[in-house]
Amino acid sequence: MSTLTKNKYNRLSKEELILLLEARDNERKADTGSSFAEASNIKRIISEVLVLLFNEERQPIEKAMSLLLNFFNADWGYVAIFEKDGRTAYFPYEVMSEWVEVPKENHSELTDETIPWIMETVKDGRDIVMCSMSDLPPEAETDKKLFELQHLKSMLIIPLSFHNKIQGFIGFDSVRVQRFWTATEIEDLHIIASIFSLIIERRETQASLEESRKHLAELSIKFKQFFNNLPIGVELYDSEGYLIDLNEADARIFGSARKDLLGINLFRNPAIPEKILKGIKSGRAFSFPFVYDFSIIQNTSYYPSAFVDQVKYLQIKGIGLNDPEFGLVGYLLIISDNTDMQLKAEQTRNNLAILKAVLLSGRSIVGEYSVEEDELYIDPVLNDHSSSNPLFNYLKTHNYLSIQELWDLGQFSSIPGNDMGPLLQVIRGETDNCSFVCKMFVRTVPSWIRINAQAHKINKDGHPSKVVCYITDITGEKQLEENLQQARDESRKNELEMQKAREADMLKSTFLANMSHEIRTPLNAIVGFSGIIAEMDDEEGKDEYVKIINTNCDLLLRLVTDILDFSKIESGMMDYSLADVNIKEICAEQYKVHSLKVQEGVSMRCDLNALPDKILHTDPKRVTQVVSNLLSNAIKFTEQGSITLSYRVEEDHVLFEVSDTGIGISARHIETIFERFTKVDSFKQGTGLGLSICKTIVNALRGEIGVDSTPGVGSRFWFTLPCE
Ligand code: ADP
Repeated sequence: MSTLTKNKYNRLSKEELILLLEARDNERKADTGSSFAEASNIKRIISEVLVLLFNEERQPIEKAMSLLLNFFNADWGYVAIFEKDGRTAYFPYEVMSEWVEVPKENHSELTDETIPWIMETVKDGRDIVMCSMSDLPPEAETDKKLFELQHLKSMLIIPLSFHNKIQGFIGFDSVRVQRFWTATEIEDLHIIASIFSLIIERRETQASLEESRKHLAELSIKFKQFFNNLPIGVELYDSEGYLIDLNEADARIFGSARKDLLGINLFRNPAIPEKILKGIKSGRAFSFPFVYDFSIIQNTSYYPSAFVDQVKYLQIKGIGLNDPEFGLVGYLLIISDNTDMQLKAEQTRNNLAILKAVLLSGRSIVGEYSVEEDELYIDPVLNDHSSSNPLFNYLKTHNYLSIQELWDLGQFSSIPGNDMGPLLQVIRGETDNCSFVCKMFVRTVPSWIRINAQAHKINKDGHPSKVVCYITDITGEKQLEENLQQARDESRKNELEMQKAREADMLKSTFLANMSHEIRTPLNAIVGFSGIIAEMDDEEGKDEYVKIINTNCDLLLRLVTDILDFSKIESGMMDYSLADVNIKEICAEQYKVHSLKVQEGVSMRCDLNALPDKILHTDPKRVTQVVSNLLSNAIKFTEQGSITLSYRVEEDHVLFEVSDTGIGISARHIETIFERFTKVDSFKQGTGLGLSICKTIVNALRGEIGVDSTPGVGSRFWFTLPCE
């Protein structure tokens, strides 16, 4: 600090100090390689514009404007200053991109007649933020004509004020594309506008000598205010490296108070690497990115700071202040805190690494779909892994394709169940994301994929402009699932078969036990009574025994027929031979045969005169068997009352009925009566096969069979046969 008091340095205003800066062209070159410089960041641009404005001797404003043109990605940049009359604006500084077609007329001067609305709005101190020509109010009709001539699409204008009065404006236009100016961009241009105002004011003040003193003093205060409001840190050191001034932003970056920082020595700062300090000492322009570790500051108590174990990613730019008379008089440092940006970049890099790790498995591919262009873009760098999925391999070599092309490629629509609907909903902005599975074929190879889509970059109208698609090959899982299902089905089938076999085994044993009893009873009767007859002389008695023998022969015959039919059904060999037959004849015959067999006190009825002749194309032998079976059962289970056989033609079928006034069947037994080997009373004769055979026959002849019964009252067995 002692050095400063001795030289003229301390008599200079801030802006004069900064005027001493010497910018070097290579400074920007040095920046380009660093990751910090890549981000279009207002802090960087302000420091660059500052260095240019205060140091560049030739056309500093134009150069700064070119920088800004790039920064705002605009095509036309200009500074307009109002003439004294306030009605004309001239354009002392103008830069344009190579795309701009300069209109034939000379517009280096515009008046309140050519651009009345702009002039008025600016003089009112209002910004002009125009994203599209349609944003213009009706009162801008005249201005609009000029904009159309210049093919303007978007425009951003900020008033410039100096000598405490609005004296012009700075603006950036876009002619190539429509621009949506963000709030940050507008804010950024405000900061730039205040820098420009200061510079222009300073230039004008220097021009009018007599007022210069007063104005310089005013400017100095203004500059201090501005200096403090900058979003970047500015530090001023003397030639020995003692900090003699800093702004508020700088104190905030280091988590300290201005008063605690003043007087610290730059070259003894333990947190700044030796190499950087050497670079600063050289006195030339410098720019270094580096990591500032606050734990070093804490451990050495270099200065009090609110930050303890923190690191910050800083960019230090600066210059040695050279005076022609005294040589190096100090250093000016401009410090940008890029920590947030760096952390975000790191986070992004991390996410990318995770994504790549997932993609590297070769089972997924990620792409970005542009809604406007209907194009799915597969980034070859992200998706550079090898995959066995033919679609993925195709996508990797054909980076751009439309949704329809993708859909056709996988022959999705040829497979039932595939539905692109969920993806279209995301594209149309009806839903945020979707996840669905579909099957596809590439050439003839089938595979399964899961498509996950997430909308991002949502437009002002709420529709997405981009959709991230994450496609995973799930063929393996699907195959596993299918195999598992197959195995499950198989084991269930086996289980059922086992159960069936067990049941069949049990039924067979029951059947055999029954059969031996059922066969032995009539056989014993036949053998026994045949023997008695042989030794008998009484003819009358003989007749009775012959009757018994005949009955038992019938029983045996029925038993054998049932068993034979059952085994035919079981082996699927039951045969049917169809013929045209009059059912009246069948019923008449069966009535006749069975009338003789009814028990005493039971009458057999069949009103043959009332029954119509009806020819059916059916199997007469099997129909006879069913009627006979039902009549036999009725006879067996009816001890008094009657048994009635009848039929009637109903719509497209004939309904046969055998009703009796026998013992009836309980509701519980009715359910299983048509199943094989069912006998309600095991003491009654029978195999339990008759009704089951009847059901098989009736169903085979396309009819139905059933029973209504009330225990103790009687039963009504019925079956139908189709007329056609
Ligand atoms: P089964 O040859 O033993 O008679 P079915 O299958 O013809 O065998 O009959 C099964 C069972 O149904 C019989 O054992 C009997 O319990 C009952 N059943 C059949 N018809 C009648 C009927 N008309 N009245 C009462 N019970 C009957």
